[in-house]
Amino acid sequence: MDRRKSRFFEQKNAEIDASRISAACPTRIEWDNLPFTSIQSIRTFPRENYKFCLRGRVIAHRPLDIRTFTRRYCATCHSSWSDRNIQICSSCANTVDNGSFVFMFCLVVDDGTGEIPLLICYDDGVKFLCGMKAVDLSKDSEALSHLTQIIRRLETSALPAVFCIKSYSIIEQATNEKAMRYRICDTFLNL
Ligand SMILES: [Zn+2]
Repeated sequence: MDRRKSRFFEQKNAEIDASRISAACPTRIEWDNLPFTSIQSIRTFPRENYKFCLRGRVIAHRPLDIRTFTRRYCATCHSSWSDRNIQICSSCANTVDNGSFVFMFCLVVDDGTGEIPLLICYDDGVKFLCGMKAVDLSKDSEALSHLTQIIRRLETSALPAVFCIKSYSIIEQATNEKAMRYRICDTFLNL
């Protein structure tokens, strides 16, 4: 094969590979131009309130029981809690609606340099799940099965997923020490 022809085939193969990657990558992010940072560098980065993009495999989810990926939510004071049988907010004493729930769960991602738990909360969860509404997953079997399939697909994907995240710090109640947290933003599932 002459050189020009072989270059043509190389280019074609590269195009096919690129289209396969974009089709099979389980997620996409809003910020195409941001470089990817390794998990090791993110975890040792000295500043907080910082945005990063990373690429890695989803190796686990928390909590283990997907039925508890949503929590009761008080729209008056923005509190949320895990016990779905409690409908009175302990922070402001407001009685919440039957259907008032928010997403709060975590995906553990590994990129070969380390692992990082990524929180998916509130409206970022709705965005990530392409508009899926947070409901009582112990009562809505269709929503539970949809979410279970999504998590299974993320955890068995042949290609790594991409994420955009924000870092922030909290004070751990048990130790009274500062701890870093990472929250997914501007990231969508490729449905
Ligand atoms: Zn409240």
